[in-house]
Amino acid sequence: MNGKRILAFGAHPDDIEFGCGALLLDVAERGAHLDLAVLSRGEAGTHGDRSKREDEARQAAEMLGAEIHFPSTAGDTRIRADLDTTLLAAKMIRRLRPNLILAPTGHLNQHPDHRETSRIVRDGHRLARYGKTPGLEDLDPHAVEALLFYDISSEALGTDGLTPILVDVSPQVEKWKTLMQCHSSQTSNLDYTDLQLSRARTLGIQMGVGSALRLYSEGPLIVASSADLSSLRSPRL
Ligand SMILES: [Zn+2]
Repeated sequence: MNGKRILAFGAHPDDIEFGCGALLLDVAERGAHLDLAVLSRGEAGTHGDRSKREDEARQAAEMLGAEIHFPSTAGDTRIRADLDTTLLAAKMIRRLRPNLILAPTGHLNQHPDHRETSRIVRDGHRLARYGKTPGLEDLDPHAVEALLFYDISSEALGTDGLTPILVDVSPQVEKWKTLMQCHSSQTSNLDYTDLQLSRARTLGIQMGVGSALRLYSEGPLIVASSADLSSLRSPRL
């Protein structure tokens, strides 16, 4: 991960940290450069306001050592995978040139902003790669090495047609809890922090480790060398 660039997309200020914060803490420790793209300021949320939620996201980004970006979209509850927003994501990808992109799963039964963000990123990363995409002429094409999806909430399990990847994040659990608590406006009623930690613990038990996160790929993944096979394991089900 040393020197690798990772770009994580979220619809709302807390999505990235709750969905895949433990993984980002781990890759940051291993020398990756992190960019976070947050497509709204959570201004339509029940708790917190635009300013507070942006502050919380900036605080979390600082803990991750990440650069945070708030690209201009239609905003909370209005994020749509239209051409303008997809090109906006593609431009970010061409400008930041990540090796790996993370995005929410596109499962239908969840906040529509999460679903739409998933599609925006999936389509945007393709347009970023195509050489003659109209509207992107000012930036060189960029092909990422992988696009992986993360679950924001328990009902967002995006297993349909996707390849799951379980990642051991046990060493990051305590830091992850602190990272999620940066979003204090979101942790007052429902205990989202405990929910995420419990899900990770359940996956960890299946893997035979402390805690794990589940990521997904839309297609097959390539193992570059047979040496990397030595770290692969099947879950203990
Ligand atoms: Zn969200």
